[in-house]
Order: sequence, then C-alpha cells, then structure tokens
Amino acid sequence: MLKVNMVIGDYSGYVGEAMQTYFGIIAEGTLCEGASLEFTKVEPKLRCTECGRLFKKQLLTFECPYCGGQGEQSEVGKEFYIDTIEIE
Ligand SMILES: [Zn+2]
Repeated sequence: MLKVNMVIGDYSGYVGEAMQTYFGIIAEGTLCEGASLEFTKVEPKLRCTECGRLFKKQLLTFECPYCGGQGEQSEVGKEFYIDTIEIE
C-alpha cells in the first residue's frame, strides 16, 4: 500500500477531498493506484516590505505586527508538491 504525502498551501485553492478524487483518476492504472493521500496544509504568510519578516495575515489588515509596515503576499502558502511517498 502506497501512501503519498502532499504539502498544499492554503492559497493554491485545492481542497483535500477534491484532490483525493482527482488523484484517484490520475493514479488509475499506475503504481499509485489505490494509494492513500495525506495532506499537510500550509498557512499563507505575508512578507513585510519594511522589515522583511514573515507573519500570518490578520483579518482585514496587511500590517506587519513587528514594525507596522505593509505586508505583501509571499511564497509561503503557495506550496503544492509531493513531500514523501511511503510504502507500507
Ligand atoms: Zn515589518
């Protein structure tokens, strides 16, 4: 039995359940057929344009909690890749 561990950022817009369905279709007839999927969700973070630190976006504001600067979308939260594949 194969187990596929995926890392998915919250920004990528994929829902775990839908992925499982797609995966089932894609994997059909391949080595991955019947494999189970595990997801690790990554919370999106903003990067401050002033101090460069990463922080979690608060509701309705892009303000940096460290220096009060403006945050912009960072690469954190856009993850979408297979982390590990285990054979059980
Ligand atoms: Zn800052």
